[in-house]
Amino acid sequence: MKKEFFNEKMETMSFEELHSIQEEKFIKQIDYVWGKSPFYQKKFKEHGVERGDIRGLEDLHKLPFTEKDELRRSQEEDPPLGSHCAAPMDNIIRIHSSSGTTGIPTFVGITRHDHKVWTEITARSLFAKSVRPTDVMIHAVGLTFFVGGLPVKDATEHIGAAFVPIGTGASDRVVMTTKRLGGNLLHCTPSYAQYLADYVRKKQNMEPSELGFKKLVVGAEPGGGVPAIKKRLQEDYQCIVSEGLGNSDAAPIIFGECPAQQGMHFCAQEYIFPELIDPSSGDVLEMTDGAEGELVYTLLDRECCPVVRFRTRDRITIFSDPCECGRTSFRIRCIGRTDDMLLLLGVNVFPSAIKDVVTSFRPLTTGDMLILLDEPGPKVQPPLKVQVEYTQTVKDLTALKKDLENILREKLVFRADVELVPEGTLPRYEMKTKLIKKLFK
Ligand SMILES: [Zn+2]
Repeated sequence: MKKEFFNEKMETMSFEELHSIQEEKFIKQIDYVWGKSPFYQKKFKEHGVERGDIRGLEDLHKLPFTEKDELRRSQEEDPPLGSHCAAPMDNIIRIHSSSGTTGIPTFVGITRHDHKVWTEITARSLFAKSVRPTDVMIHAVGLTFFVGGLPVKDATEHIGAAFVPIGTGASDRVVMTTKRLGGNLLHCTPSYAQYLADYVRKKQNMEPSELGFKKLVVGAEPGGGVPAIKKRLQEDYQCIVSEGLGNSDAAPIIFGECPAQQGMHFCAQEYIFPELIDPSSGDVLEMTDGAEGELVYTLLDRECCPVVRFRTRDRITIFSDPCECGRTSFRIRCIGRTDDMLLLLGVNVFPSAIKDVVTSFRPLTTGDMLILLDEPGPKVQPPLKVQVEYTQTVKDLTALKKDLENILREKLVFRADVELVPEGTLPRYEMKTKLIKKLFK
């Protein structure tokens, strides 16, 4: 594999050297936060920690976690950006908003300096995902509000690739523009990539591979890392699929998957200090190969909305063995979000894992499915109701239902009640796919 980097020095740095840079930046940032953020001044005081107690990263665990709900409340009580905002409006150059999947959206502001940091991290991540100056990127993601929009434009331009802003809900324009401009790279959500594949087959009578993309760069939801969905997309488009992961409160894209396809590399080396924690006890876990837990971020270089020990709710697995691409950072796979997790007789089940099994049954299924919940999760009484779309190729519906239920039990250790519904019954999404339908009020 060709070893190529956006920032070779930072991306190939040894753990020890990077740690000392992180340490230095942490001390500076924690002084800044203590001095400028009323939210953290109050929070740290309530937690009984004083500035002198925190001498370096080894004391980070003494500081309390920050929850998304606290940021939301802080913004409601102290508008517009909340008391965690540590920069005056004069210095703020842009305000984004989180997608609001878990409640009322929150706003995130950035200063000119924060903008530079975001662009660098996002460019490293996109470069890991194989974006190069020669590429023509068809950007089928909305540019408004969402951090996957304008910040990706900035980072793509920073790399030197050509950015073609199309947005969502314009599939005909995606097809026409891709052909006329010779677009070779599609940037979108995995849901949209699946939607577009179906769309061109049905409406344009062509195979998705005929669009001519050589790279598919996806993110904003799990999918690019779900084995059956990745396989489906790579077969449909006949090209490599790489995924990324970001966080609107930290940076637009923080992890990027390199061509080795063994997880996404951490690309915010000196800008974010990541921790892995046990989501129930809050204990810090060692980031050893195969370790599983929730990601926590402490921003090391942020002016406007700094966060300390921010709980992302992203459940991840760590890969720490050396990667053939030459990057020295650890890699992750995102298993799902803690908010979506279901608990069946003590077993954790993530909707994306069910989707993986259902998609692996293609072409008997379309890959589309919906979990029906009678009661608020995460605890659910088995069997879990799952609607699955079958295709016209199925001869025996009873056998398919049984096979699906058996494999779900075998692979994910829970009992499902599969209801087969005809192709085209379930809603399709152009942004993020909803995998759960709540039947309760
Ligand atoms: Zn790699």
